[in-house]
Amino acid sequence: MTPTHSPRLLDRAQCLEADQGDPLRELAARFALPSGVIYLDGNSLGALPRHVPERVERAVREQWGTGLIRSWNDAGWIDAPRRAGASIARLIGARADEVIVADSTSINLYKLLSAALALRPDRRVILTESGNFPTDLYIAQGLLEQIDRGHRLVRTGRDRILKALDDQVAVLMLTQVDYRTGERFDLAEITAAAHRVGALVIWDLAHSAGAFQVDLGLAQADFAVGCGYKYLNGGPGAPAFAFVARDHHDGLRQPLTGWLGHAAPFAFEPDYQPASGVGRLLCGTPPVLSLTALEAALEVFDDAEAFGGLAALEAKAACLTDLFIERFEACCGESGLRLITPRDASKRGNQISLAADDPAQGYALMQALIDAGVIGDFRAPDILRFGFAPLYLSRVDVWDAVETLARLIETRAWDDPRWQRRKAVT
Ligand SMILES: *Cc1c(COP(=O)(O)O)cnc(C)c1O
Repeated sequence: MTPTHSPRLLDRAQCLEADQGDPLRELAARFALPSGVIYLDGNSLGALPRHVPERVERAVREQWGTGLIRSWNDAGWIDAPRRAGASIARLIGARADEVIVADSTSINLYKLLSAALALRPDRRVILTESGNFPTDLYIAQGLLEQIDRGHRLVRTGRDRILKALDDQVAVLMLTQVDYRTGERFDLAEITAAAHRVGALVIWDLAHSAGAFQVDLGLAQADFAVGCGYKYLNGGPGAPAFAFVARDHHDGLRQPLTGWLGHAAPFAFEPDYQPASGVGRLLCGTPPVLSLTALEAALEVFDDAEAFGGLAALEAKAACLTDLFIERFEACCGESGLRLITPRDASKRGNQISLAADDPAQGYALMQALIDAGVIGDFRAPDILRFGFAPLYLSRVDVWDAVETLARLIETRAWDDPRWQRRKAVT
């Protein structure tokens, strides 16, 4: 389903009314957001589902405290990476045995990039986009330095990706939603184009999974990675996921051949034998407490099924982001901020980005906005970024957020030295 442009909401009362008629609003009650906060940063760190602390506490007190080492079997800890993978598979159009939860997105990218290059031994190019997320570029650089077999990382502009595909490209590595502008690639179209020249594709779904409909199966995608702590709400540092299409399972060789990716970890054999399927992407002992939080958080998506699932969430996100754009343009005329996110909802993720003519002002404005209870983030050099998690945001939230933004711009409340100081995390 492609979301269509949502009807105009002319005042706050109409927003309230539309919120009350929205079946998805029940899901917001599942999250513990502090009062007085409008949270527009669920694309960086998803909010806390109410039932998660109790689950984590139980895992600590009962499973760890009482069960002790028996809990690897009795509480099913050892299967958690596959179980969480199967839950995420439903959100990205994959089969249960094609996804596993392990490590971080960066590390999974390293494993899959290495595995993909090995599947195309005669080709020497990793093609990517110049503006790809830094960790993706850095990981590719580090891997190529290590392989040292004359591979090249070729970076090109978003609009030149299709033209740059040729029979030298071993792997096309792309992030579906641009973290700066929010622009969304057509995953199926680009995957098909890469396959036509014999290249494999690795998709980074960091800002896609749990945000809108993704169908890796339909697109016949090869590989994907993504974060557990963004739209999936798994908590800070939640482990990441990796997807490998069944067709690639047998030939998959990844370099971090730790014992839990072995076919029989508890046989303690001297030589490595990969586990079947995505299981071989495991390396060391999984972070059980983080996995507990992630698994519990994913249950909210099961509840969302009753309200139309990801299709409904995607349509709501389109409505929220449309509303933000409309209100921004109506209220923040001479603001020195420019919309850099596509106006067509099907061409963007659940994100709106505003570039500031004066980057220092942009940074200070975001700090003042956060102080006023509207939490977004800042991405260097000049971007105010807002994420719209449809599970817990309402139209009124969006209305009020833009009112606050407009007030700060009008009163120049951002123009205060305390908002200029750069924090370690922006
Ligand atoms: C957030 C994000 C990451 C994060 O990677 P980690 O290894 O979890 O730090 C990777 N890629 C993209 C595109 C991201 O947006």
